[in-house]
Amino acid sequence: MTEASSLFSDAKLVIPGGVNSPVRSFSGVGGTPVFIDHAKGAYIYDSVGNRYIDYVGSWGPMILGHAHPDVIKAVKQAAEKGLSFGAPTEIETLMAQRVCELVPSVDMVRMVSSGTEATMSAIRLARGYTGRDKIVKFEGCYHGHSDALLVKAGSGALTFGVPSSPGVPAAVAENTITLTYNDSEAVKALFAELGEQIACIIVEPVAGNMNCIPPEPGFLECLREVCDRYNSVLIFDEVMTGFRVGLSGAQGLYNIQPDLTTLGKIIGGGMPVGAFGGLRKIMEHLAPLGPVYQAGTLSGNPVAMAAGLKTLELIDQPGFYEALTAKTEKLTSGLKARAAQAGIAMTTNSVGGMFGLFFSTETQVSRFAQVMQCDQDLFKRFFHAMLDEGVYLAPSAFEAGFVSAAHSDEDLEKTLDIAEAVFRRLQA
Ligand code: PMP
Repeated sequence: MTEASSLFSDAKLVIPGGVNSPVRSFSGVGGTPVFIDHAKGAYIYDSVGNRYIDYVGSWGPMILGHAHPDVIKAVKQAAEKGLSFGAPTEIETLMAQRVCELVPSVDMVRMVSSGTEATMSAIRLARGYTGRDKIVKFEGCYHGHSDALLVKAGSGALTFGVPSSPGVPAAVAENTITLTYNDSEAVKALFAELGEQIACIIVEPVAGNMNCIPPEPGFLECLREVCDRYNSVLIFDEVMTGFRVGLSGAQGLYNIQPDLTTLGKIIGGGMPVGAFGGLRKIMEHLAPLGPVYQAGTLSGNPVAMAAGLKTLELIDQPGFYEALTAKTEKLTSGLKARAAQAGIAMTTNSVGGMFGLFFSTETQVSRFAQVMQCDQDLFKRFFHAMLDEGVYLAPSAFEAGFVSAAHSDEDLEKTLDIAEAVFRRLQA
């Protein structure tokens, strides 16, 4: 058993920041990250044996809880047959058939190995299909770390191409236009000016990378309308929301059909998987059928497909999402009530199995600027106090949290009891 501080010091010597993905480093909340030894159901266990109720779920994939026995069994069986072949396997077709059934806007789908690859490839496809270069995204939405998508707005106004990460060439960023999420008027104004040059809009249909912001009524409809009018491609990035807010994703929940959909997280059941799919007439532009090139040595990996396919089978049960939504609402309404009792200004959002907590005096948070105004210092203190008591929340005020089917009523009640005491202490 080794303390996290020692593991973190060793890691920092050989891994930048000690982590293989930045937010894991706790740089958003301070302190030393928890090093995980193993996980089961709703719990993760750290390197010295502490147990935490986990509301991160590997950032979304673990909708069934950790190490679900049927998923592990499927993975073991697939692994026995060989880890990778670089040639077609039947399970890839079974996966594609399943995705096409569950997500009606998807006629054809290609598997990749991460959400980043999925969105990057969907953008290339939209550009190749339309012959246009400009793309539209929304401030605060995250679509992975490819160059074209690592661009965000300056001051919330319509912004043309400011690289937000050194290393993104200005020439690439120039073609990414960033607007304000939930601002339909800005979308219409932009398209009135530049619509014919815009290849696509990419959007998180429920934003989960600026905390959790649901779409306002009419916003997704507006995106669909302008894309139809200007022959631009509408891409729903459902890497997070896919199979998380409902069996057909956010597009099923809000009843809007995008042209392309990107998937990740749950579709891999915890293995490194992403996917992009959509209308046949667009997907047929991909190599080897068409000229838009995209490929992957490990794409459609049989072990990853086994984990994903088993997960998709297990979530496809009557009442699954009703139960998940009820759990999430029990958590968020319970937290809100206890914060109010303690005199702490906090509000929440939730959709299906995802949620967000905002330390804010606003009653409804639906814009990026409101998220930025939340009390981050209070969030940090709340995060650490909860962690000390055995509740593992996302270590950032800008990330959604996730509830799994494995969270029991007792887990939720224990979380609320802990939060009640923590809120009182924070207020004292
Ligand atoms: N799109 C969305 C909506 C995401 O939430 C994420 C990751 N959190 C990505 C894309 C990128 O996925 P990955 O980290 O697997 O590259």
